[in-house]
Amino acid sequence: MTRRVVVLGGGFGGIEAIRVLERRLGRREDVELLLVSDQNYLLFTPLLPQIASSTVEPRHIIQPIRDIRAHRRFRFLRDRVLGLDLKGRQVHLAEGSVSYDFLVVALGGVTQTFGVPGVEEHAFFFKGLEDAVTLRDRVIDLAEHADHERDPTRRRELLTVCVVGGGYTGVQLIAELHDFFTRYVVPRYLGIQPGEPRLVLLEASEHILRGVDPILAKRARRKLARDGIEVRTGARVTRIEAGGVGINGEQIERAGIVVWVAGVRGHPVFEELGLPRDSAGRVLVNQFLEFPGFPEVFGVGDTVVIADRPEASVPIIPAAIAHGRLVAENILSRLEDRPLVPIEFSPRGMLVSLGMNDAVVDLMGLKFTGYPAWLFWNALHLYKLVGFRKQLQVALDWGLAMVFPRDSAIIRRPSRCPICAGPKLGRVGDRT
Ligand SMILES: Cc1cc2nc3c(=O)[nH]c(=O)nc-3n(C[C@H](O)[C@H](O)[C@H](O)COP(=O)(O)OP(=O)(O)OC[C@H]3O[C@@H](n4cnc5c(N)ncnc54)[C@H](O)[C@@H]3O)c2cc1C
Repeated sequence: MTRRVVVLGGGFGGIEAIRVLERRLGRREDVELLLVSDQNYLLFTPLLPQIASSTVEPRHIIQPIRDIRAHRRFRFLRDRVLGLDLKGRQVHLAEGSVSYDFLVVALGGVTQTFGVPGVEEHAFFFKGLEDAVTLRDRVIDLAEHADHERDPTRRRELLTVCVVGGGYTGVQLIAELHDFFTRYVVPRYLGIQPGEPRLVLLEASEHILRGVDPILAKRARRKLARDGIEVRTGARVTRIEAGGVGINGEQIERAGIVVWVAGVRGHPVFEELGLPRDSAGRVLVNQFLEFPGFPEVFGVGDTVVIADRPEASVPIIPAAIAHGRLVAENILSRLEDRPLVPIEFSPRGMLVSLGMNDAVVDLMGLKFTGYPAWLFWNALHLYKLVGFRKQLQVALDWGLAMVFPRDSAIIRRPSRCPICAGPKLGRVGDRT
């Protein structure tokens, strides 16, 4: 009898699970492998901030799933998961349903908005490739508008970018945007003066970069401040409106762009299932990563939290990969009637890029900063990219960014831009 293993999600956790299963199953024909994901590529998220700053080309940080299939043993289905019927062992997709004998749920998370009014309508999210490309285009679009704005107050407002969330994503993003404004926009846009672009990092707690060694986090904060980036801690965003952010229930900070990177919550597909979940909506799994009450279903990566060992389920890539590997082993154990293996993963540290030539590294007891840390950050991320072609393309992008100007062509018409959203023919303005 053929048994079917279905893996949902083509991110780090899902890809690792299917790759290990494929390798370990070899030519066994009694097990069928199916990967389902709504994107047909694996996205290398650590380089997303460099898409927003036009340092790296979007296509260079994604790897098509069809190219990752080294042994061509698993099938891939590009479809969207709409719901799960765990009792009936069915996955409901946009274009039909599939049944399974074993299921790996690796759907990642979604942006956590904490119910703050206006976030969905007015803030930019920064989770996928499309978000990064949209943000990049919007930043350039605002620079184009500001270049011809005669009122200095309005110009400064247009050139204010607020990033909400002082975790590693927020810090890396704001550092990249700072580089883009200082190295590219200010020298080329004659109507924009040095010091006019304003970058503001808003963090609700008292510290940025939680989880990083406090000394390194302070060093990172000093570096951002030295660059002129305003880092405001204890700044809880309570509302977002068109062109502004409400902080701590009162003050309104005017801004051309607000980016929301304040957290991740569990995937909405679990909302109706009645499974035990944590306050962030992630499914509570046991140390073997099994879903409660459904031993044939395993959860991986940002989707789950391990009840007894939350530190083993922090939402980072190494955790997702470790989970993916473990569930593959545990499914093989089930197929071969062996005992399951518990999770052993512990995070080894963190690397945070602070823009061109600076970073902080806190990894396996090694702590260092500055240029050597930046070189290490680059080398490690290049090594971690899947596929030699992508490694070469990103390395070339980095090299070219040091010699040539970045590319500021707007590829997608930003929907919030009055020029693009407005009527096709209109009065010629007198701004220039
Ligand atoms: C901007 C950014 C920067 C980051 N930087 C770092 C970093 O430097 N270091 C680090 O360790 N971590 C970083 N992370 C976190 C890291 O990306 C995640 O922890 C990791 O990707 C989680 O892996 P996953 O497999 O659980 O989920 P994901 O990688 O998110 O994969 C989920 C997959 O499921 C698919 N999917 C989702 N919903 C559906 C659906 N309904 N139907 C079908 N398919 C679906 C998605 O398309 C995706 O392919 C970053 C994240 C972001 C957003």
